[in-house]
This record gives sequence, C-alpha cells and structure tokens, in this order.
Amino acid sequence: MDCEIISVGTELLLGQIANTDAQYISQRLSELGINVYYHTVVGDNKQRLLDALDVAVKRADLIITTGGLGPTVDDLTKETVAEFLGLELQMHEPSLQHIKEHFNRTGRQVSDNNIKQALLPKGSIPIPNPNGTAPGVIIEHEKGIFIVLPGPPLELQPMFEETVVPFLQKCSDYTIVSKVIRIFGIGESKVEEMVKDLLDEQDNPTIAPLVGHGDVTLRITARVRKGEDAYALINPVERQIKQRLGDAVYGVDDDTLSKVVSRMLIERELKLALAESCTGGLISDKLTDVPGISMVFDRGLVTYSNEAKMELLGVSSDTLNRFGAVSPQTAEEMALGALAHSHADVALAVTGIAGPDGGTLSKPVGLVYMAIADSYGAYSSKHVFNGDRRRIKEIAALTALNLLRL
Ligand code: ATP
Ligand code: MG
Repeated sequence: MDCEIISVGTELLLGQIANTDAQYISQRLSELGINVYYHTVVGDNKQRLLDALDVAVKRADLIITTGGLGPTVDDLTKETVAEFLGLELQMHEPSLQHIKEHFNRTGRQVSDNNIKQALLPKGSIPIPNPNGTAPGVIIEHEKGIFIVLPGPPLELQPMFEETVVPFLQKCSDYTIVSKVIRIFGIGESKVEEMVKDLLDEQDNPTIAPLVGHGDVTLRITARVRKGEDAYALINPVERQIKQRLGDAVYGVDDDTLSKVVSRMLIERELKLALAESCTGGLISDKLTDVPGISMVFDRGLVTYSNEAKMELLGVSSDTLNRFGAVSPQTAEEMALGALAHSHADVALAVTGIAGPDGGTLSKPVGLVYMAIADSYGAYSSKHVFNGDRRRIKEIAALTALNLLRL
C-alpha cells in the first residue's frame, strides 16, 4: 500500500508550526510496512485541497489528511474530501452525542458549528476522538482509502493508534506487533552504540530508537502473517537487548519509572517517605501519577530551607554548617530524618544545586546528592547533571526514582 499524507493548514505554510503530524504518521506507517512516497502541505483553501487530492489519487492508494476538522469556516477538509469523492454528509448520532457530552462536561453550550462536526460522509467509518470534539473518518472508496484526521497532535495520535492502526492492519495479510524497551541511565548514543549490530542486522523484527519521548527507548517491531506469533520473534531480541543493557532497562511499553517503583514497593510491602530539596516535590508529583500509590507512599516533604531541614527532618545545624546543605552528610541525615518522622520503611532524600546561580568550583550547578535510608542505615550517592534549572530538576527526580528501583 502506497500512502500520501496531505496536511491542511495555512499555519504550516506560513512556517508558524512544524508538520509534526506528518512526521508522526510517517514514522508509524514505516513501522507498519506501508510506504509513504509524498508529503503534501496545502493551506485552508478548498480549491487547492481539491487539486491536491486530484494529484494524490494518481500516485497513492492510501491518502491521509491532517487538520481542518474544527468548527470554524476555515476548517473544510472533511467537506472537501466528501465533495471530491461525491459523497453526501450525514448526521452521525453517536458523534453528535459525544460532542454534546463534551460540552456538557465543561458547562458550555453546543453551537451549530460544533453540531456540524458530527456530519460525516455517507458510508464512512467514524474515528472516535477521545480528546476533542471532531471525529475523524475512514472512507473506503474506488479512488482509494481516505483517512481524515484532526490537526492537534494530542487528538490525532490516540485516534491513529486506537482506530487507524487496527484498520490498516486489517487491510493487510500481515500483522505488526511492537514492544517498546525503556531505558534509563545510559544516553541515547551510547545505547545505540551498544546495540548497533542488532539494529543493523535485524530486519524482522526491526529495532529502532524512538526519538523525542523524553527517555531512551528502543522499539522492536515484528511483522508476521496473521495468526502467527509475533512474540516468538520479539522475545529473543528483547532478551538480547536486556543482556547488553542490564539494569538500565527499567520496563517495557507504557511503563514509567514511577510505575515500576510503585510496583516494586507494593510487591515488597514497603512504605516510602521522601525529603526533597532541589526537586521541589517533583518526585512526589511523579509518584502520585500512579493510581494505587497510596498503598505505599506515606509522605513527601519539601524541605527547601536549612530551617526546614532542621525542624522537619532533624538535620543537625553542625552538619549544615560544616558540610553545607548540598553534601552527602546532609542528604543522609535528611533521609534518616524522613524515615524517623514518618511511617515509612524506606526514605529517599535529594539535595542539590539546580542553578543557574549558586554554583562554586567545588560545588557546581547540577551537583546533587541523594540518599536512601532504611533500617540498616543511610547510603548516599553523588550526581552531576547538565542543563538548565528545569532539566536538572527533571533528571534529578528521574534519577532518584531509578535509585529506588535498584
Ligand atoms: P481544531 O478543532 O483545533 O481547529 P483542526 O482539525 O481544525 O482542529 P487545524 O485547525 O488545522 O486542526 O489545526 C489546529 C491546531 O492543530 C494547530 O493550531 C496546530 O497547533 C495543530 N496542528 C495542525 N496541523 C498540524 C500538523 N500538521 N502538525 C502539527 N500540529 C498541527
Ligand atoms: Mg481548525
């Protein structure tokens, strides 16, 4: 199947936004074994979109459009595709219901323009939009398969994964299964170096680094005939990757460090307390993203000032004076204090310099001490992170979760 992506939006032509929708779809289609030969960008203009469709049907059998499904007058993709294919628009009741509920939830009145978003080309398959009002559509037509998606990536991506991918797989004799391996503590280029021969050698399953998702990930994708077991191909490769990368592999698919830590604490029946200084509560924030964490998360204290460290955690003024707030000694006393002043079995403390000011030669910006305390005592570790304040906080929080996991 050969695909062309037509992205609709004057902002794209003006250079106000980058065409990340086309990038996303192309990446996913290549993993699904579908060739993408053309990306076309066209403004919010009916005639030029009709012209683009006319060209596309001559060179592709799958045409995916993005953008222009909103309620306003410049949003005309669905109407134009329907006109191009000679299809009438019909009210699709479940989509109308979804739009009404969407507005009711936010206490707003549904306008006529929004009601129009539930008009779909006759005979099309609706693509539900869990994050917005406009449904997308799949149209199987003698001119080709047309898939119409909205522009906002937060709406487009789940619609693509939940409805378009299964549809495309159904069209083929093959199924594509992938598994994402999540890695922490080794940089992207180092990971690539460590598995380079696997990346180069393999063509089924393929292994590809996934870019732009914050952490380092490898996606293993196997293509098998329907009914065959894709995991028979994926699992041996997964084992090889884990052998090479060891403990740096923290999970698969939609695992996060917080989820893995939460699972580990629940399994071992351990309660956790946190004492955070430079991360300002970010570790607590990440952990409380996990449903069910209340079973194991006792408390998180943000002790930013020396006074707070002394009053809430019992860090001694002597330690603070002699070694400073950013020191292994302070980190350890913070962790021991958090353990003593809570119902936890294990406590983690983080203290460091997030910058941009406050660094010295011996204690540079990005220097962070972490300590873990349990009934056997406290153990600290030293870390130096690069980046701006936000990045240092973020990477320190993730590193702390990673320490808990190990
Ligand atoms: P809306 O209901 O928000 O109007 P829409 O389907 O009509 O959605 P557009 O009006 O074309 O989509 O674009 C809405 C927003 O979606 C844009 O302002 C932009 O932020 C994002 N967007 C649109 N097209 C793309 C694209 N190709 N790549 C990345 N983002 C895009
Ligand atoms: Mg719009």
